[in-house]
Amino acid sequence: MAVSQIPLPFDKAALEPHMSSRTFDFHYGKHHKTYVDNTNAAIKGTPLENASLPEIVKSAKQSGNQKLFNNAAQSWNHDFFWQSLTPKSAAPAGKLAEWVNRDLGGFDKLKEAFKTEAVGHFAAGWAWLVVKDGKLVVTSYHDADTPIAHGVTPLLTCDVWEHAYYLDYQNARAGFLDAFLANLANWKFAEENLNKAK
Ligand code: FE
Repeated sequence: MAVSQIPLPFDKAALEPHMSSRTFDFHYGKHHKTYVDNTNAAIKGTPLENASLPEIVKSAKQSGNQKLFNNAAQSWNHDFFWQSLTPKSAAPAGKLAEWVNRDLGGFDKLKEAFKTEAVGHFAAGWAWLVVKDGKLVVTSYHDADTPIAHGVTPLLTCDVWEHAYYLDYQNARAGFLDAFLANLANWKFAEENLNKAK
């Protein structure tokens, strides 16, 4: 059972003008695809050949196989990122809204903290909203690293590798984050992840 990319949950032009179809041609069609292809090449003929993607990520982390970890974690992170995007962004609701108020001081504070974390993250990586020790936390991980390798529950992510925004925003990561938080962030997906978290 080879690893595969999830199908994009919307048309590749659905997020324009905030994220262009050309960005998806490269980011989904080339960058993400390459991570998945590299993962499949690395697990072929090994005991991980039929493992799930999260199992591959965790196994590579444990065994110190950095090359496999990087490709498998990037495969998983991008699947999660596509689901963290939506053409119909709406404010957090339900249990997520309650937790945002309780742990982060409200939705505006969450957006401020997320932008600060994402823009301040040096070089490549990912900004995340996670559940850690029973609380919502805004954090970031470097390069391919991922909360699922640390026993932390991911709710939402934004890719802050330059390839995520360079075609649409060039070097302006802050502009990309403004568009993500104002128009694209899928808080409904985050709420679903919170509701199914243990
Ligand atoms: Fe990416």
